[in-house]
Amino acid sequence: MFQNLSERLESAFKNLKGEARISELNIANTVKDIRRALIDADVNYKIAKEFTDKVKDKALGEKVLNAISPGQLMVKIVQDELAELMGGKEAEFSITGNPAVILIAGLQGSGKTTFTGKLANYLKTKKGKSPLVVAADIYRPAAIDQLTVLAEQIGVDIYAERDNNDAVAIAQNAIKEAKAKNKNVVIIDTAGRLAVDEVMMTEVANIKAAVGPTEILFVVDSMTGQDAVNTAKAFNERLDFSGVVLTKLDGDTRGGAALSIQYTVNKPIKFVSSGEKMETLDVFYPERMAQRILG
Ligand code: GDP
Repeated sequence: MFQNLSERLESAFKNLKGEARISELNIANTVKDIRRALIDADVNYKIAKEFTDKVKDKALGEKVLNAISPGQLMVKIVQDELAELMGGKEAEFSITGNPAVILIAGLQGSGKTTFTGKLANYLKTKKGKSPLVVAADIYRPAAIDQLTVLAEQIGVDIYAERDNNDAVAIAQNAIKEAKAKNKNVVIIDTAGRLAVDEVMMTEVANIKAAVGPTEILFVVDSMTGQDAVNTAKAFNERLDFSGVVLTKLDGDTRGGAALSIQYTVNKPIKFVSSGEKMETLDVFYPERMAQRILG
């Protein structure tokens, strides 16, 4: 992931090789190349333009110290701005409450169920929590089977009601069950559809209203680029979610979703997921990601 962007940025900085100081003239090509690299990574034009305008202003406003070349200075500025674009500091993830309730939403196939398992595993092994995962997808019995397999694999309890077609009631019953069994985190995996639709949105919004979640995580496939950003917008308008989970970072993603989501919906990416193994869940650190891009 980001490989193409990394290479393109590296080559953009080469324009400055041999320059003694930064001037409007000699950074023009670098700035243009950075903008093109971002657009080709599936960042929308407006975000790319604003980004490079900022980089340019910063570069022209800074005195080049003897110890650092214009090329190095540009790398530093771009790295800082990339981190800022992705939210700056690491976002908080709240698991307070008894139980803490975490609602998982997103399109079908985005990786919700896989993430639900990974998050439960993370909270169990890294945070010493005792999670209960809930299959609240009332349309696909296979979704219940899938979560059952994952729960067994990681050794956490699952709550499901195969004959109940009321997702809100299932979520409420799950919380009662969690209290009865002393589970301190409830993770509710909701139904998704292939595109944003009213039935799905109403259902998730109703679950939200009924259970008052501690966190609402919107899960999105990073391979879908600008579509990911548009879907995020639609979900945020209805759900006002608290964070984003980017999945499938192990795939051939260009990186546009990671770079644009925070800017577009003003919500932080909290986790990134790469791969189907239950152990491959990472907390998202914008600064580290920016560093990785400029590797
Ligand atoms: P849901 O419909 O949103 O619950 O999505 P699933 O969790 O069932 O995932 C859809 C497909 O993507 C499944 O085949 C998963 O194994 C796969 N998947 C989920 N997360 C990842 C990931 O981070 N990387 C890769 N490569 N595949 C993933």
